Amino acid sequence: MSTLFIADLHLDDARPGITTLFEQFLASDEARSASAFYILGDLVEAWIGDDDDAGLPDRIANATRALRDAGVPVYFMAGNRDFLLGETFAARAGMTLLEDGTVHDIEGTRTLLMHGDVLCTDDVEYQTVRAQVRTEAWKAQVLSMPLAARRAFAAQARSDSKSRTGRIDETIMDVNQNAVESAMRDAGVRRLVHGHTHRPAVHDFTLDGDAAQRIVLGDWYDHGSVLAIDGDRIELRGLSAG
Ligand code: MN
Repeated sequence: MSTLFIADLHLDDARPGITTLFEQFLASDEARSASAFYILGDLVEAWIGDDDDAGLPDRIANATRALRDAGVPVYFMAGNRDFLLGETFAARAGMTLLEDGTVHDIEGTRTLLMHGDVLCTDDVEYQTVRAQVRTEAWKAQVLSMPLAARRAFAAQARSDSKSRTGRIDETIMDVNQNAVESAMRDAGVRRLVHGHTHRPAVHDFTLDGDAAQRIVLGDWYDHGSVLAIDGDRIELRGLSAG
């Protein structure tokens, strides 16, 4: 039995193969026999509200609910693309919502779970926007718009994000080590799992004299990526269509 983590799937109708891979993985023996399954944000390219009547949310809900019904707890933490996902969809999908920065006991180790964007403190412009859009007032205003208007808004936000990602320095898109250490210190942990940066790796370092570890999940643009923790064994690997 292992604990499984995925993030940054960016599921989108434009890349149907990845949605199929997601469904296959959640239906696999590996997933069905997991002790818990964590989705750490950016499951979809854009989430416009739990009332979205498109086909993709249905497919996601069917996949996660079936996994939960097989006896595997499914946890969801929002990323910067899907922070409008709320309790209504979570209930339909059989998922338990987690706050960014939750600490869970994972296979006997207290582990800090984050999407990862709040750790990218060198990107001041992004953090300013993030603070604005995460307010209840902003979310309520967006969710009060008609679905068609929200779809157009999401498309615009994606194209803005793409052009911005192209012009800013790559290093400020990565986490800041001081932010990592202070988050781990505040949480009282020596292990952190996050996504967002699309730089899958296991980073070992020393925190206040103790061995510490930051595990970064990979994205699902070209293929899948999964982290499996089984006792002391940590496996971060790619996934291909089977
Ligand atoms: Mn992200």
